[in-house]
Amino acid sequence: MRFDIVTLYPEMLRPFFSQGVLLGAQEKGLIQIHLHDLAAFSPHGRAIVDDRPFGGGAGMVMRPEPFFHAVDAITKEVGKRPYVILLSAQGVLFTQQLAKELARKEAVVLLCGRYEGVDERVARASDLELSIGDYVLAGGELPAGVVVEATARMVPGVVGRFQSAATDSFFSGPRLGYPQYTRPRSFRGMKVPEVLFSGDHERIRRFRLREAWRKTLRNRPDLLGLRLKAPTTEDTEITEEPNG
Ligand code: SAM
Repeated sequence: MRFDIVTLYPEMLRPFFSQGVLLGAQEKGLIQIHLHDLAAFSPHGRAIVDDRPFGGGAGMVMRPEPFFHAVDAITKEVGKRPYVILLSAQGVLFTQQLAKELARKEAVVLLCGRYEGVDERVARASDLELSIGDYVLAGGELPAGVVVEATARMVPGVVGRFQSAATDSFFSGPRLGYPQYTRPRSFRGMKVPEVLFSGDHERIRRFRLREAWRKTLRNRPDLLGLRLKAPTTEDTEITEEPNG
């Protein structure tokens, strides 16, 4: 599988992709990661990648042309159109299920924004606008790293024993992983649960499942359908107003 990341700061990501599981996956030839300098695709010179927002407002908006030119160049290199993702706090939420689906694609392009964001025409031309969580970062580089790592782990062979990904949080639906213990058996008054030394695989399996559900209920009730805050009246009204 091939990942192409288009960013103003390729050097931010290079060290991240040069270690650990992702380095191993590249060395085994299971994935390829290409970093592209967005400014190099600007038709108006390296310095001109952003401009003031039409309609006024704070900050600068990234111009569309460099992103389109970068995707054109990558498409030419790959030989067919890759799956194009714009990283954006306004996107659909990245999940383990999405990571599994992306891992089935041959080539994925990740476009990283900065400043106040990216001209909306880039989102319109992309296959997916993707957010890694309900918070705003200064740029799409960390989200790109998150998406590449989570997706690469779903490519068969990348995680040593595939089984270890299969017991992870979210792998089999809206459930967190079970708590793990290792040596020492007792530490600062906290003991490892006895059942884990029983050798009884069925008891251990049931204990882990129970603990996984308990943790899900305690830490992530939202995964089980609990809504935390309803929209306000203004939120509801504004969605019904016509544009213009
Ligand atoms: N004005 C934008 C908004 O209200 O959604 C935020 C722009 S943010 C400061 C700059 C860039 O960081 C975005 O274009 C996007 O590429 C990236 N970014 C920030 N938060 C993100 C998130 N949660 N998920 C994915 N990308 C994010």
